[in-house]
Amino acid sequence: MKPALLPALLATLMLCTPAVGAGQTWISNVKLVSPEKLDRVETGSVLIDAGRIARVERGRSGPAPAGATVVDGKGYYLTPGLIDSHVHLHAVPGMSMAQGASGDSLARAYFRQMPRSFLYHGFTTVIDLAVSDYGVIERLRKEPLHPDVFHCGEALVLANGYPMSFYAPDKRFQSFGNYLFDPAMPTAVPAQFAPAAHTVAAGVARVAKAGGICVKTHFERGFGADRNLPVMSRAKFAEVRAAATQAGKVLVTHANSFEAQSFAVAGRADVLAHGMWHWGALNGQAGLPGEIKALLDRIVEQRTGYQPTMQVLHGLRAYVEPDYLNDPALRKVVPASLLAWFSTPQGQWFKPEVTDGEEDAAVMQGMEGPLRRQRAVVAYLAGRDANFVFGSDTPSSPTYGNLPGLNGYREMRQLHAAGMSLAQIFKAATMNNARTFGLDRELGSIEVGKAANLLLLKTSPLDDISAYDSVVTVWVRGRQAPREALAADYE
Ligand SMILES: [Zn+2]
Repeated sequence: MKPALLPALLATLMLCTPAVGAGQTWISNVKLVSPEKLDRVETGSVLIDAGRIARVERGRSGPAPAGATVVDGKGYYLTPGLIDSHVHLHAVPGMSMAQGASGDSLARAYFRQMPRSFLYHGFTTVIDLAVSDYGVIERLRKEPLHPDVFHCGEALVLANGYPMSFYAPDKRFQSFGNYLFDPAMPTAVPAQFAPAAHTVAAGVARVAKAGGICVKTHFERGFGADRNLPVMSRAKFAEVRAAATQAGKVLVTHANSFEAQSFAVAGRADVLAHGMWHWGALNGQAGLPGEIKALLDRIVEQRTGYQPTMQVLHGLRAYVEPDYLNDPALRKVVPASLLAWFSTPQGQWFKPEVTDGEEDAAVMQGMEGPLRRQRAVVAYLAGRDANFVFGSDTPSSPTYGNLPGLNGYREMRQLHAAGMSLAQIFKAATMNNARTFGLDRELGSIEVGKAANLLLLKTSPLDDISAYDSVVTVWVRGRQAPREALAADYE
C-alpha cells in the first residue's frame, strides 16, 4: 500500500467506528439444533458477522452486541442450512435437454426461480454431480440470493456408455466433453474427439481445473431400449480411484443395482449416488437376501456415503398420480407459467416414456417391487447407522416429478417412512454431507468460523419430519431472507 493512502483508509475506518455492529446479526433466545451436539439442544444465541458465524452462546443468551440487528428466536429452532449433494442444475424438470437449453421464456423463468426454490426448502448448499454447462452455474451465482454451489465438473462417462447412450451417436461426444476412452474396450469415437486425449488422468485433471470437488463415474448397464451398455472394467475403475485420491477429489459412483453397488464398493467409491432398487436375480425375494446384507455390511464398515435417492422412482410416478399437479406445494417452487405448461399436451411429452404403453394403474403397480427393495435396503442401513449422505437427484430424468427444493423435502419424507430416524436424516443433510464431501471446515454445523448458512424453523427436525417444511427464515452466507419472499408465487 502506498503511504499516501493510509490517511484515507484510516478516515474510512473511523467513519465506520460508530457502526461496529453494522452487518452483524444477533439471533437470540433460540433453541440450537446442530448435528455435533444432538444431545444438547439448548437455548442460546448466534452472532453472524461478515457472512460467518462469529459467536455461539449456549445455555444462556447474553445481551446483543451494540449495533447488531437482533432477531428474537424465542420459540424457534436454529439449524445449519441443509446440503443436497445430488442435483443437476442445468436440467429443467419436465423439459427435454434441448428445450431446457433453448432459452425459451418458460426455461428462463424456471432458472430465475430455481436457486430460490432450493433456499425456500432450506437447501443452502447444493452439489451438482455432472455439469453439462458451466454457464448455468455462473449465472446462478450471479442471482442476488442463491445456495452455495459445488460440483464434480463434467462426469467421467465411459465412451458410448450410460448416459451418453441417450444421445445420438453424432451428438453424444459433443455433449460429454470429458468422456473416458479405454483402449482395452474398442468402441466407435469420431476422430475429431481424439480418444487419446481421454485418459483417466486427463479426465480428472479437467475436473480439477474446472474447480470440481468430486469425480462422478457410472456403473450402469442401462434400461428400457438401452440395455447392455458397456461398463467400466475393474482395472479402469481402479485407475479412476487412484487419480481421484491423488487429486484430492471425492469419488461418486452412479450405481442402483446389487451388481453395480458391489462393483463400486469393491473399488472403494466414496459415495454411491443411488439406492439399490434392482437386485438382479434376487429381485423376487421377499426379504433382504444374505448376499445383499453382506454388501450392505461392507458399506457400513467402509463408511461409504449412501444416497438412497428414493425420489427417482416417485418422480417418475408423478405422471400417473392424478393429483400430483394440483399439490399447492408446487406453486411455491416453479413459476405459474411452467406449472400451467406441465398440464398441456406438450408438457406431457415425457409421460409415454414413463408408461411405455401401459395403463397408469399398471405403471403404479410395476413400481411397487423396486420401491419395496429400495426401502428394505434403507431400513437395513438405518439399523446399522450407515453413512447416509443426503442427495435428492433433482431432477433425475426429464420428469416434472423432481422439482427443486420440494424434491428434497419429499425425499426426506420417503427416507423417514423407510426407516431412517429423524436424527439420521438431519445428520445426512448436514454434517455427513459436509464431511464426506470435504466441506466440514466451512459447512454442516453451527460452529464459530463456519459460513452463516442457517435456518430458523418453527418445529425441531428432531421432533417431526414436517419441521423441514416449517422454515421461517433462511440465512445464506449471512444474507437473510424470509421464506415466503423466496416462493415462486410471492407477489
Ligand atoms: Zn443424478
